[in-house]
Amino acid sequence: MSLLNEEEKSYIFSKIRDVPDFPKPGIIFKDITTLLRDQDAFNFLIEHLYNYYKDRDIDFIAGIESRGFIFGAALANRLKKSFVPIRKKGKLPYTTISEKYALEYGFDEIEIHIDAFECDKESPNVLLIDDLIATGGTAKAAISLINKSGANCKDACFIIDLTFLKGTKMLDKNTEVYSVLEI
Ligand code: AMP
Repeated sequence: MSLLNEEEKSYIFSKIRDVPDFPKPGIIFKDITTLLRDQDAFNFLIEHLYNYYKDRDIDFIAGIESRGFIFGAALANRLKKSFVPIRKKGKLPYTTISEKYALEYGFDEIEIHIDAFECDKESPNVLLIDDLIATGGTAKAAISLINKSGANCKDACFIIDLTFLKGTKMLDKNTEVYSVLEI
């Protein structure tokens, strides 16, 4: 488990673009497409996550739609682990289980396939990944979904944690959280 030094964190941070007032006034959107576009930076980040998690007992990586798919699938491939997509309601074709969560206004719902974590183990260990944690509602629902499905959400990883929103405090205490950049 190796951590980034301040210079390495600044390097990753410098590749993420701030887009003010997107998708609505007052939100500063953390745009990771500029990081993905830079092959050295994207590779550096995935290699870091590989080194961080390579000795952890993880069976599956689950990514939250849609930016969690990008980092999750790249890391799953590097770690030679299985990848599971957690999607917005109505997108997965087979039988699903779902979890509702509160947004600023109204509700949203995420789903996984009922057999998403089927394997030889009774309670396989899952690493959940998303690009960013804000209020924590999405990640909390995703962890609950993973645990409900009979797997164990052992780890959760975010590239960016907007710490002033205290999202990680919302998460199940049995899940170990690692945020690459704390803002
Ligand atoms: P939350 O449920 O409030 O923790 O929101 C997390 C989800 O919303 C993640 O899937 C993020 O990709 C997205 N998100 C929330 N705030 C931002 C932001 N400022 N910039 C980019 N993505 C965001």
